Amino acid sequence: MRIDIFTLFPEMFPPLLGSSIVGRARRRGFLQICCHQLRDFSPDRRGRVDDTVFGGGKGMLLMAEPFARGLDALSEHLGALPHVVYLSPRGRVLTQRRAKELAALPGLCLLCGHYEGVDQRLLDEYQAEEISIGDYVLTGGELPAMILADAVSRMLPGVLSAESCFEEESHFSGLLEYPQYTRPEVWRGRPAPPVLLSGDHKRVFDWKRQESLNITRQNRPDLFVKYVEAEQEN
Ligand code: SAM
Repeated sequence: MRIDIFTLFPEMFPPLLGSSIVGRARRRGFLQICCHQLRDFSPDRRGRVDDTVFGGGKGMLLMAEPFARGLDALSEHLGALPHVVYLSPRGRVLTQRRAKELAALPGLCLLCGHYEGVDQRLLDEYQAEEISIGDYVLTGGELPAMILADAVSRMLPGVLSAESCFEEESHFSGLLEYPQYTRPEVWRGRPAPPVLLSGDHKRVFDWKRQESLNITRQNRPDLFVKYVEAEQEN
């Protein structure tokens, strides 16, 4: 998969892109990530990319044209424009399911906003999907783009050692993950649950499922209700 990112701060990306699972996915050829400096596509000789907001209001807005020039150049280079995503607190909140769907695409193009955001006409022109990483506002779209790229990358076939790595994780089935333990068996007087050391696969499976249900009901009653309703429909 190829992910192109348009940003005012391409220098923020290399630490993530070179590290851990995303870095390994890139080195092994599962993933290509290209960051583009938005100012390079400004029609203005001084690289200006923002202007004041029509109708008043505080702050500056990113203009449509620099992004559009970048997207058109990318489309020409690749022969087609990949699915365009604008990271935005106004968008639908990113879910595990959407990350998996996006991972099935050949490519993605991520637009990082800044200041007050971007001219709406850009989003309309390129039918950009708006994705939020949560109900709070950050300074720019760079961290959200990294989060999306990370979430999508680990869903690519072959990136994790086994699909089961993410199938048992929080959110994949609609439930949150059960608590996990490692050596030593007793740490500061706290024993790990004996069932996990019993070797009885059925009991271990039932324990994990019950713990997942408990923790989801306690921490995310919204997810719990959705999960129970879906189970009843099936
Ligand atoms: N004026 C915008 C609003 O009220 O919706 C907020 C702009 S924010 C200060 C600047 C940029 O940060 C946005 O254009 C977006 O790209 C990014 N951003 C901030 N919070 C985000 C979030 N929760 N999810 C995704 N992107 C976000």
